[in-house]
Amino acid sequence: MTRHIHKNSYVKKVVLIFILAIAGFIALVTLLSSIRSFRAEKYLFTVRVRVAHDADKLRLFAKGPCDIEDIENGRVLARDVDLASAVEITGRAEGIRFKDCVLTSAGVRIIPKGKFDIALNDIFYRGVIDVIRVGGTLDAINRVGLEDYLKGVIPREVNYLWPAEALKAQAIASRSFAVSQVERRGKSDYDLRASTFSQAYGGRSAERLRTSKAVGATRGKVLAYAGKVLPAYFHSCCGGRTQSASNLWGELLPPLEGVECRRCGWSPYFRWQARVSTKVIKKRLNDAGYDIPRIDDIKTGVRDKSGRLDYISVRPGGKWFDIKCDDFIRAIGPRVLRSTNLRVKKYPFFYRFSGYGWGHGVGMCQWGAFGLAIRWRKADSILNHYYPGAEIVDLKENNERRGFL
Ligand SMILES: [Zn+2]
Repeated sequence: MTRHIHKNSYVKKVVLIFILAIAGFIALVTLLSSIRSFRAEKYLFTVRVRVAHDADKLRLFAKGPCDIEDIENGRVLARDVDLASAVEITGRAEGIRFKDCVLTSAGVRIIPKGKFDIALNDIFYRGVIDVIRVGGTLDAINRVGLEDYLKGVIPREVNYLWPAEALKAQAIASRSFAVSQVERRGKSDYDLRASTFSQAYGGRSAERLRTSKAVGATRGKVLAYAGKVLPAYFHSCCGGRTQSASNLWGELLPPLEGVECRRCGWSPYFRWQARVSTKVIKKRLNDAGYDIPRIDDIKTGVRDKSGRLDYISVRPGGKWFDIKCDDFIRAIGPRVLRSTNLRVKKYPFFYRFSGYGWGHGVGMCQWGAFGLAIRWRKADSILNHYYPGAEIVDLKENNERRGFL
């Protein structure tokens, strides 16, 4: 009997030690993973995206309460403000009018107190919204984590139904571009604009499951060259060959020197045509500040390796007048003339322009990436093609190497 009792307590001890060991192991794993995720969070950038500019008024809405802080000193101006019925903010010379009071601070930060997003002019944004007074008008800046920002960029830049590898390539290019802008614009009020001036961004409202998955699958990955994050420019369709960044912005970077592209024929603007009447050309050039009394002829000049023009020449009377082709396109309309790889033919009352591609032509050709992805090319191989010599690195490791952490 005594022996039996002894045996029983021995088994209990073993079971207890076993349970304690398992609990200890679980606690250790949890601790380690929390340290890892803490480290992972540390290198994540916050980007500042200007989502409204020079606005007389902004409309705000949020499902839950928000705190309002003074941007300059971080002082809380109002707690638990109810924005459930949309509130209009207007800019005044003396301050920001918010509900019934005028806040004299230069800017206010609206912080959601819970897991819900703020809507600004009916678009939902993750993160916080800064409203800044510039004279009598308002700018709005969305401060948002880099990965969350990208979830609102990719579906606005390309079609969310595109092959997954093309979406991943876009995610890595967009992330690299965003980080390079953050590093360049340190002292400005914002890092990026929400339009194609930087890259298109539609906030949480634009997000799609497939594009968010592409962002998640490439989390933290960027293109780098010579130890720096590459400003990985991209455009819609190159029309056959991408352009050197040095032609456009004087930037001498080997990965942005321009490459052959044979896969963007799927783009609706691979070839384009436009007829513009002589009267309209004259009016638009004069509206853009050129003094051109009449147009007798238009001709194209020297082309670069990719077929793009530096200048286009207009003849009012006897003399030719050179206009930078980019400026000419901006004056006539970038949705009329889609690239500087164009030709022009004169007709009695109009000119017929025909060209290849859409956009500035530097870096990755988005339709070319699509064309490669449907031929089973992986994202890294697509990026390798458009940014030769650049490597794909982890943002965290890249920053550690440069002593950022
Ligand atoms: Zn192309």
